[in-house]
Amino acid sequence: MVGAGFAGAVMAERMARVAGMRVLLVDRRNHIGGNAHDTVDDAGVRIHRYGPHIFHTNSSDVFYYLSTFTAWRPYQHRVLASVDGQLVPLPINLDTVNLLYGMNLDAAGMVGFLDGVAEAREPVRTSEDLVISRVGRDLYDKFFRNYTRKQWGIDASDLDSSVAARVPARANRDSRYFTDRYQAMPLHGYTRLFERMLDHPNIKIMLNTDWREIDGVIPYGEIVYTGAVDEFFGFRHGPLPYRSIDFRFETHDLERYQEAAVVNYPNDNDYTRITEFKYLTGQVHPKTTVVYEYPTANGDPYYPIPQPQNAARYRLYREDAERERGVHFVGRLATYRYYNMDQVVAQALATFRRLQRPGDDVEPSVAASMTGPGEDRAPADARSLIGIVMGTAGGDQA
Ligand SMILES: Cc1cc2nc3c(=O)[nH]c(=O)nc-3n(C[C@H](O)[C@H](O)[C@H](O)COP(=O)(O)OP(=O)(O)OC[C@H]3O[C@@H](n4cnc5c(N)ncnc54)[C@H](O)[C@@H]3O)c2cc1C
Repeated sequence: MVGAGFAGAVMAERMARVAGMRVLLVDRRNHIGGNAHDTVDDAGVRIHRYGPHIFHTNSSDVFYYLSTFTAWRPYQHRVLASVDGQLVPLPINLDTVNLLYGMNLDAAGMVGFLDGVAEAREPVRTSEDLVISRVGRDLYDKFFRNYTRKQWGIDASDLDSSVAARVPARANRDSRYFTDRYQAMPLHGYTRLFERMLDHPNIKIMLNTDWREIDGVIPYGEIVYTGAVDEFFGFRHGPLPYRSIDFRFETHDLERYQEAAVVNYPNDNDYTRITEFKYLTGQVHPKTTVVYEYPTANGDPYYPIPQPQNAARYRLYREDAERERGVHFVGRLATYRYYNMDQVVAQALATFRRLQRPGDDVEPSVAASMTGPGEDRAPADARSLIGIVMGTAGGDQA
């Protein structure tokens, strides 16, 4: 098993616990958890080393599966954006528009306002098309144009519409960032969740090890690979572009640093956002730690860049991956997809089910595994671990 993030940990857990296989889990980092890893900093504040990770899903399969390994802390994520000298709710809602334009609209008025400013775009191909067709040019300029440039290093007019599709506008006062059915944080953090997942006599863990170092030294039957697919194939079709982030952590001698868990800076500063971890973790501590995010082209591969030419290059790697016998490619980097944690868990569970039924060549479909009854459902009493939050459609952290 190459990689100890969600993809590798779920596959390891299922293969050891359900299929009775012996698993060697290898990661070149010095910790488990992949990008979801959390730890306690020198001041004693729990932080997410690779940026804020908020768990949210509409999949009861995924939620109940993870509930086997953690209790939850109900958590509703809220984000403010610093625009025109004010802090306003994001996603754009009724309050955002009323604050920015000094109006007093109700929901019907907001719908009328958006209808008035939205510009028809046909076809809707890019992020710019999508946002302008929904909220018009001025809100696009205030919230999306510069933010997208900072975050992705390219114009919204060159970025696939799927990125902005995650950031809707609302005609009500709902200020939650996500509206998924289940929204919660692991009560004792992600790393503890991973420790419990991997706590099985059939699972051995080897950190600080690139899998190539042991290839040919330790015999194995099959590989589950969750690293970058272009790296696996020696970049033979050229590198797949990724966006990375430099994180700058600061600890302050204060109980609270800012007004919300995340404050976005679409137009000012080189950083995109500041996150204060204590909102996420619920930790009570006299100090607080925040992280500033500076997007960059170099560094660890974090975000696959959704552009048609990149998707075309990935298809070449996918064909290679499909031909590779005895290697299963799972996870965000191995399938070059902008997946959230729940989608990676769903993808890994679906892959495991498919491997258990070798005659069944159905592609692991995240969509399919996100609905319908699950084979790996945890006991019904998992439901009592959290106050379940009912919602409608989901948004995300693009
Ligand atoms: C800044 C940021 C914020 C995010 N916020 C959220 C959020 O709020 N909510 C959400 O649901 N999702 C969020 N995500 C997405 C989330 O991080 C991913 O969905 C999830 O971590 C992917 O898991 P994975 O196992 O596919 O990959 P990873 O977590 O990247 O794990 C892959 C592992 O493989 C290891 N590896 C790679 N190559 C090798 C090799 N050759 N040998 C050995 N080991 C190797 C790596 O070291 C790594 O630990 C965020 C991502 C980022 C970058």
